Amino acid sequence: MAPDARRREQLRDNLARARDAVASACREAGREPETVRLIVVTKHFPADDAAALVELGQSDLGENRDQEAAPKAAELAGRGLEPAWHFVGQLQRNKARSVAGYADWVHSVDRVRLVEALDRAAAAERPINALLQVSLDGDTSRGGAAIGDLPALADKVAEASSLRLRGVMAVAPLGWAPSKAFDLLAKCSERVRTVEPAATEISAGMSGDFAAAVAAGATMVRLGRNVLGEREPMA
Ligand SMILES: *Cc1c(COP(=O)(O)O)cnc(C)c1O
Repeated sequence: MAPDARRREQLRDNLARARDAVASACREAGREPETVRLIVVTKHFPADDAAALVELGQSDLGENRDQEAAPKAAELAGRGLEPAWHFVGQLQRNKARSVAGYADWVHSVDRVRLVEALDRAAAAERPINALLQVSLDGDTSRGGAAIGDLPALADKVAEASSLRLRGVMAVAPLGWAPSKAFDLLAKCSERVRTVEPAATEISAGMSGDFAAAVAAGATMVRLGRNVLGEREPMA
């Protein structure tokens, strides 16, 4: 079998297995599988893989670096493939305009100055669904807002005319039990919904901890390795 056909088969199998795993996590949590959206994070993998996933029916893809995501999204668009792109990485203000050129969702809104830049970019490019990234352990150097800063940040996004405040996102801190992390994120979600009741999305859970995230109420899980395989260290 040609290598590209073999890779496509592998992605099809991995994707089916990942969807099944998310659906059974939902059942175990007493939730309907349709209440959780699967985002496949294609970072470090080529546009051909992302294109194959879209052709296999995967409509939501995630990326964490604009330098990689922008050309990949353009490559897919050139092939007539337009998944919903989710930007999930730390975002610099000077990249906001580029990200707004392809991303429908930004999961990593974590400071007021970024909100202003993103709102201007969204006004020029497309409305953006914004999730507030929370630093659950307060170590904001790895991205995310401190929990105490969420209300002010939520107000700022709610006031931005080209951003829609849709919910919260977090990565479980290293060394934390996933259930502790995601229960705390659920509390943050409640707090943000006092500002914007429609901000019901909770983006939580990666390949290693998505079942705990689903049990704690995640509405979006972000899976990379489970679908694409292990990532090579970046050259
Ligand atoms: C890479 C990444 C993921 C996917 O991680 P896996 O462990 O490969 O499933 C999810 N969320 C963010 C923010 C990421 O950077």
